[in-house]
Amino acid sequence: MSERPIRRVLVANRGEIAVRVIRACRDLGLHSIAVYSDADADAVHVRLADEAVRIGPAPARSSYLDIGRIVATAVEHRCDAVHPGYGFLAENAAFADACARAGIAFVGPRGETIERVGDKVSARAAAEQAEVPVVPGSALLEDADEALRYADKIGYPVLLKASAGGGGRGIRRVDRPDELGTAFAAATREADAAFGNGGLFVEKCIVDARHVEVQILADGHGNAIQLGERDCSLQRRRQKLVEESPAPGLPDQLRKDLGAAALRLAMEVGYLGAGTVEFLVDPRTFDFYFIEVNARIQVEHGVTELVTGVDLIAEQLRIAAGCALSVGQDDIAARGVAIEFRINAEDPDRNFFPSPGKISQLRLPGGPGIRVDTGFEAGKAVPPFYDSLLAKLMVWAPDRDRAIARARRALAELTVEGVATTAPLHRRIVDWDEFQAGTCHTGSLETLLDQAARPGSPVTWPRL
Ligand code: ADP
Ligand code: ADP
Ligand code: MG
Repeated sequence: MSERPIRRVLVANRGEIAVRVIRACRDLGLHSIAVYSDADADAVHVRLADEAVRIGPAPARSSYLDIGRIVATAVEHRCDAVHPGYGFLAENAAFADACARAGIAFVGPRGETIERVGDKVSARAAAEQAEVPVVPGSALLEDADEALRYADKIGYPVLLKASAGGGGRGIRRVDRPDELGTAFAAATREADAAFGNGGLFVEKCIVDARHVEVQILADGHGNAIQLGERDCSLQRRRQKLVEESPAPGLPDQLRKDLGAAALRLAMEVGYLGAGTVEFLVDPRTFDFYFIEVNARIQVEHGVTELVTGVDLIAEQLRIAAGCALSVGQDDIAARGVAIEFRINAEDPDRNFFPSPGKISQLRLPGGPGIRVDTGFEAGKAVPPFYDSLLAKLMVWAPDRDRAIARARRALAELTVEGVATTAPLHRRIVDWDEFQAGTCHTGSLETLLDQAARPGSPVTWPRL
C-alpha cells in the first residue's frame, strides 16, 4: 500500500467521538472539518474543529447518515480523508466505497471487509475459516419453523439475533419452544425497523458468560497487532455500561489465546485499520466463543489507550494514509488498570429512559489518572435525536483496587444537573461486592437491578 499524505480530515460524526477525532487531528497537525445537523449548530465539536459545515436538519437520515451529502462536502472542502467515528456510517460499506470512488481515504477497513465481517452470519463463517471457536449457531433462517428445528438441535435457551444487528438491538432470548414464534416475529420487526434488514439467525445462549473483546490494528504493509482485551460484561439490555482493561482475573494463557484468535481472524479477512473482535468467555471453564467483529473504533477504545499508551485514532489515521503502524507487537504491554463508566443521559430509576434536555450544570472530575471524553458542556442541550452518551469517565491506576478508589473519587467530583444520568448508578456499582471482586458476567447487573426494583426486596444498594 503506497503512502498518501493526509492533511485535511472530514469528521463524519458528532458528540464525544467527533471531539476525540478532532483532538487527534490537532495533535498530528492535521486540519479538521466538522459536519453538523441543525440540532448540533452550537455543539462542542463544531467549535473545536478548524472548520464546520452544516449538512442538514436534525434527523440523522437527513444529516449524519446522508452519504451523498457527506461525500460531496468532503470533496468540496478538499478533504484527503473521512473519519466516520462509531455508529452512523462507520460500518456502512457503501459509504466506504463512495469515499474511495471520490478519491478520499476512508478511515476504516475496505468496503468489502466491512461487508464480510459487518454481517454477523458471514463473520461467523470467516471465524470458522480462521479456526476461531464460534458460539454454536445457525446460518440465516428462512422462517420460525427452521429456527425451531435448529433450537431443538442445540438446546434451550437460545438467542434469536439480527444478522445486521448492533447496539444490542434485534436480539431476543427464547427459553422454550412455545415462545419461539412470537419472538421470531418481534425480532424480525425490530431488525427490519432498525437496520432495514430483518434477517435472523439462532445462537446457543451462553448463560452467565463474560463479554471479553480484543482490540486489533492492521496496516496495509502486512503488520497486524493486538492490544490486549477489555471486559465489557457490565451491561443493561445488552448494551455496555462499564468497560475495563485488562479483563480481571483471566488466566494469562486465555489472554494469549484470545489475542491470537483475534489476529487469525484479522489475517483471514485481510483486515485494515482498527477493529474489535468480541468474544464470550465461560467463567466456569474458560472456554471462549467468537460473537462478532466491530469494524471501527469502539466507544470504549480509551481504556486500551490508557493501559497501552497507544493513540488508536492517530494509528487509524496513519493506516489510512498508507503508513505502517508506529508500534509493533513487542511494544504492547498493559500497564496498570483502566476502567470506563458511560455517563448516559438516561434515568436508571425509570428503566434507563432517555433524558434529553439542557445541561444546566456540568462539573467534570480531574487530577491524577482521570480522563473525561465528552462532546458537551454546561449550557448545551443533549438533543433527543441521537444516542444518549453524554460523557465517558475513564480512570487509570497501577492496580485494580486503586482504580476503583479513583473511580469513586471521580464519580463523587462529577456533577451533572438538568438531565438525569447514569452517574448515580455508577456510584453504586463501584461499591458493589461483585464488581469489586471482578466476577461480573453479562447477566449480573440486570439481576441486581431486578432484585433492587422488587418491593420489599432484601437487596439494598450500598449507601451513596
Ligand atoms: P461499542 O461496540 O463501541 O461498545 P455500542 O454497541 O455502544 O458500541 O455502539 C456504538 C454506537 O453505534 C451506538 O450509538 C450504537 O447505537 C451505534 N451502533 C452500533 N451498531 C450499529 C448498527 N449496526 N446500526 C446503527 N447503529 C449502530
Ligand atoms: P451487538 O452487535 O448488538 O453488540 P452482540 O452479538 O455483540 O451484538 O451481542 C451483544 C450482547 O448480547 C453481548 O455483549 C452479550 O451480552 C449478549 N450476547 C450475544 N450473543 C450471546 C450469546 N450467544 N449468549 C449469551 N449472550 C449473548
Ligand atoms: Mg457487540
